[in-house]
Amino acid sequence: MNNNESELNAPFLQAFATGLRAMDVVGKVGHRKILDATPEQLSTLAHFVLAVKKLKETTETNPDYWDCECEANYIHKKADRLACHRCGATQDEQPDSRVSEIS
Ligand SMILES: [Zn+2]
Repeated sequence: MNNNESELNAPFLQAFATGLRAMDVVGKVGHRKILDATPEQLSTLAHFVLAVKKLKETTETNPDYWDCECEANYIHKKADRLACHRCGATQDEQPDSRVSEIS
């Protein structure tokens, strides 16, 4: 699927914004132990970790698979198929599939 710009931007911007808040928290906690952080500060840090994890899952690709240009069933295993007979796309000009989309 190639409509991934807006899909990718939303989680990225979310992680980025949460990351900025988390950095602010780390700056305020300073050299004190992380256990001294308030629940709100810990929550911000936890949200950042989760956002980065989600971002990774959303954007991480598997080099063993590729996406053709079909609306459905567009994930192909490279070991099985290097060209799609329906849309004519070939593996060398198409992106690898996202890990989150491979079943
Ligand atoms: Zn196809």
